[in-house]
Amino acid sequence: MKIIDKLNEDRIHISFEVFPPKTDAGFEKVKDATDKIAQLNPSYISVTYGAGGGTSKNTAKIASHIKHELGVESLAHLTCASSTKEEVRQVIENLKQLEIENILALRGDIVPGMTFPSEDRFHYAYELVEEIKKHGDFCIGAACYPEGHVENEHKEDDIKYLKQKVDSGVDFLTTQMFFDNDIHYNFLYRIREAGITVPVLPGIMPITTAAQMKRSQELSGTVFPRRFLALLDRFGDYPDAMKQAGIAYATDQIIDLLANGVKNIHVYSMNKPEVAAKIMENLSEVIKC
Ligand code: FAD
Repeated sequence: MKIIDKLNEDRIHISFEVFPPKTDAGFEKVKDATDKIAQLNPSYISVTYGAGGGTSKNTAKIASHIKHELGVESLAHLTCASSTKEEVRQVIENLKQLEIENILALRGDIVPGMTFPSEDRFHYAYELVEEIKKHGDFCIGAACYPEGHVENEHKEDDIKYLKQKVDSGVDFLTTQMFFDNDIHYNFLYRIREAGITVPVLPGIMPITTAAQMKRSQELSGTVFPRRFLALLDRFGDYPDAMKQAGIAYATDQIIDLLANGVKNIHVYSMNKPEVAAKIMENLSEVIKC
């Protein structure tokens, strides 16, 4: 089923995310985590794509396992920056053969010193969206950034390019992680003003360790509010307490979003079924409303 058809329903949807193993040896472990997350009956599970395409086969394999063996809808991420156009086309065709209906079209990060396989590549995600549309009737998601994308100095440019990306054929957007819901509400207002009308899923990351917070900050440049920093300060050295506090913080963010009219939430559960399960347990009554 296409994810956009679910998102347009008048009910709450919670989705989770897993990342594929870097090597075939790690496949069973990821599969096990995925199987446990699927038991929570999420609306879909997304599978990330390793920059450079090294894990592309595993992304497709896990996405196919989720859809065909676990009976849960899957969303396969696909990045284009570090692959040739032909390599990207092959991945899309493979996803089509596996009957994967949903793709999250991404450019991929560009880090200093990075080398590219050739100039014959898609430079921005909107070009990838255009390419995916040539290959079949996929439901296409894309990324957006409530705090602005790190490469763009001006948030208005970011929104201008986001509009171009959505107009090229994006059905829904998922946000980068954020830890202050007011930033998300402000972003929603600005993109709606700019004429972007597709569903937007806030991406919520339960931070369960101090190291994870550092990585998240480096990756996304997100701002951590004082309220979150206080948790880290108090519980950062106590792993079980930090896990409990991080899950509570994410739950609180989700409940606030739901209370303010958001219907669809994506949780960056990252191969941690116990975290996903706790979040679902915390939301068990509110998602019935
Ligand atoms: P784009 O939409 O192409 O934007 C990239 C930059 O270019 C932005 O600054 C934008 O404003 C600018 N831009 C866009 N169009 C133009 C234009 N026409 N002219 C000039 N500038 C332009 N990375 C992975 O490697 N694997 C994953 O699985 C993955 N999953 C992700 C999931 C989500 C929900 C999010 C938010 C991010 C994910 N990422 C992933 C990270 C992502 O690849 C990076 O954030 C990347 O730097 C940008 O990707 P994008 O698709 O948003 O790029």
